[in-house]
Amino acid sequence: MQQFEMLEHAHFCPAADNDIVLIFSGRKILVYRENDKFRFPHAKEVAFQTDSKLLKFGHIGEYNCLTGEIGIQQNNSLESLDLREVMQFTSPAEAASANRARQLLYWLREHQFCGVCGNKTEQSDHETAKVCPECGEVSFPRVSPAVITAITKGDQMLLAHNRKFKKGLYSLVAGFVEAGESLEQAVAREIKEEVGVEVKNIKYFGSQGWPFPHSLMVGFTAEYADGEITPDGKEIVEAQWFDVDKLPYLPSSTSISRKIIDSVIEKLSPAE
Ligand SMILES: [Zn+2]
Repeated sequence: MQQFEMLEHAHFCPAADNDIVLIFSGRKILVYRENDKFRFPHAKEVAFQTDSKLLKFGHIGEYNCLTGEIGIQQNNSLESLDLREVMQFTSPAEAASANRARQLLYWLREHQFCGVCGNKTEQSDHETAKVCPECGEVSFPRVSPAVITAITKGDQMLLAHNRKFKKGLYSLVAGFVEAGESLEQAVAREIKEEVGVEVKNIKYFGSQGWPFPHSLMVGFTAEYADGEITPDGKEIVEAQWFDVDKLPYLPSSTSISRKIIDSVIEKLSPAE
């Protein structure tokens, strides 16, 4: 299967006819509908203004991938859908390209001016970076690490309902890493803060870039050590131990939280 490969030096250029174009409007991305299937359109399928320059940031097989936030006339074949939904039904390569594209566009928007001296920044001519022509400050795309952990106790797993979740949805405890903190410290602190329990045997599971808006989700598993479940009431409104054969409504399979949950289920379920 073809994979998405990123370009070391993302840069602006006009799109050629066959280039894949990832056109965003906030969290929505333009998709091309073909026989009830969706894919990202090629430039020739989208009417551009002739002077539109897009950010070339990688390729899938022989096709370059370009992205931008520009107004496009939608029609019967072209429509804008929420990126979270789109990532569930596109190919892994397309999902990976959209993940990077969305993060690069947030970065471009948030780094138009130098954070040190306030002058307008320019695109670097040799790497994916914004450079200040006045003071030389270089700004790379922002990545915000966050930890997400499956806590187990015997054959039960702790799942929590966050205020921002859809009704009935439960997931793992997660939170951003603080400056100066190790990942393991972040795991223990977030769990203590959000659900009031202490954990031991914190083990790395895997990681995933997540473009809402620029997270790097770092997954862990941990075992319950001490304490009573006490939701913080701010982010977490409910949390409880679930038997792995009686789980609630869970996040979609594209998310790392679901991948961790599934691996824990597999480990804890009795062999058939
Ligand atoms: Zn500057």
